[in-house]
Amino acid sequence: MICISVTEPIQAEAHRQVERIVTLADVIELRMDLIRDGSLRSLMAQCRKTSLPVKILVTNRRKNFVSDGDSDEQERLAVLKEAVALGADYVDVEVDTPVHLREELLSLIETYGKKTELIVSYHDYQKTPSLESLKKIFNRCVQSGSGIIKIVTFARRTEDNLRILGLIPFARGRKRDIIAFCMGGEGRMSRMMAPLLGSYMSFASLSRDTESAPGQLTVAEMKAFMKLLSGTGSGETFLPISPATSMFALFGNPVAQSLSPLMHNAAMAAMNYDGRYMAFSVQDLASAIAGVRAMGIRGVSVTIPWKTAVMAHLDEVDTDALKIGAVNTIVNDNGRLKGYNTDCQGLVQSLEEVMEISRKTFAIIGAGGTARAAVFGILKGGGTPVILARNVERGEELAREWGCSFYPLNDIGKVKADCLINTTSVGMMPDVDESPVNGAMLSGFECVMDVIYNPYKTKLLKDAEEKGCVALSGLHMFVHQGAEQIKLWTGLEPPRALMRRVVEEHLIHGS
Ligand code: NAP
Repeated sequence: MICISVTEPIQAEAHRQVERIVTLADVIELRMDLIRDGSLRSLMAQCRKTSLPVKILVTNRRKNFVSDGDSDEQERLAVLKEAVALGADYVDVEVDTPVHLREELLSLIETYGKKTELIVSYHDYQKTPSLESLKKIFNRCVQSGSGIIKIVTFARRTEDNLRILGLIPFARGRKRDIIAFCMGGEGRMSRMMAPLLGSYMSFASLSRDTESAPGQLTVAEMKAFMKLLSGTGSGETFLPISPATSMFALFGNPVAQSLSPLMHNAAMAAMNYDGRYMAFSVQDLASAIAGVRAMGIRGVSVTIPWKTAVMAHLDEVDTDALKIGAVNTIVNDNGRLKGYNTDCQGLVQSLEEVMEISRKTFAIIGAGGTARAAVFGILKGGGTPVILARNVERGEELAREWGCSFYPLNDIGKVKADCLINTTSVGMMPDVDESPVNGAMLSGFECVMDVIYNPYKTKLLKDAEEKGCVALSGLHMFVHQGAEQIKLWTGLEPPRALMRRVVEEHLIHGS
């Protein structure tokens, strides 16, 4: 249900707002604290005049959101009592309202035949408390005798959304109706995701300038999003989203440019799998992982800078990922989080598209996380890795750990190998004219692979083609590591050719 609030302070203007809202919303909220000279009776009468089945919610918040003493509270609650007497569908009362006043309201609701439902609400306009605190607040609301619970907090960071959204499955598990989301610009994601998790009601504004809370979406935006959720958005190929839909996430920072959501959502849609994948820019990893547990997010992709740090937050790490020292995939099995590394499989599978690994030598540029995955995969496949790094100390350490040779990057001319693999980010968008090695050095390699997939063909690969080498784009690795993630999450083989096509089309045509 979409609820739009009447916020105009002047009665005549408020009536004009009601006229528009009744045609657009499922629920109309009369904010009697904002409609300063408003007559509740006449506003409700206007709402009821329409033949449209709009429900009425009456709210009367405190001035400055703090209690001004019992007499003010009595005055404030008197408006809600009037709403009950006039037959409002809902009244909203704050959880910290004095108990005797809330009980009076509840008994009045009984007197009027329980036609009105009580929403007990909690607001934090500064922050989002920890999930444990939110659960305590939820329990306080339950104890107050409410049918519907509303908990709204302020998002300072993206991961606050995960925390508040975690309350929805928590409430649903306790057979309680809940409205839960974050305010503020950072909280917009929770406003969009709450309905798909089963939040009882969503709040939208008539237009940008009539928001009743910061970060609110307009009703047009909310409806467009709902349309998308229902699978009826124009040109959409996605399945409808429901509370049964499995949720998947990408955690990294930054994530705005990531093509993982495009690739994973296209794959799941083609597989007819009821799942959705969204990207989160994460600053507080512990919070984000708590959100995964609370929301029951089924799987997570982990990218820079969290691949190593995330291991400490998991219940178990797969032995290969442990040896590589990095996790790029989390599987959530009924609350138990296990980490895997599919970068290694992605790299090996993409190499195997063009050459054998066994008994071949691979010169690996770089000594970071992806280089470790490459060394591990090549050794496992029976090949011989050779490390080339600008940082001698780091390169030597990696070579020592895995028992392979090391050369400073400048000595690449001394290295004899079948394949060269770049695992650094040199040449990545926007620095497309850069390459980690001089093109003249490439003629001895049968194959040159870049782990970079944007651009599709890096300068290194263009130089390699000029020298007659087979050039392998990081796109292939990207697709395989993503496909292996889907296999871990769903147990199903995803359509790799389609995944490659959607990413390739995006990279080449920017569609
Ligand atoms: P990382 O752990 O930070 O390692 C980066 C490595 O690159 C380090 O050894 C670093 O050397 C080296 N390096 C950076 N700039 C260099 C330069 N100008 N010259 C020589 N060496 C340089 O990063 P990572 O996690 O391994 O990621 C590396 C790249 O792989 C990223 O671009 C990432 O997007 C890509 N990747 C692609 C896929 C895929 O599916 N295609 C999957 C995973 C990662 P220092 O130690 O000297 O700084």
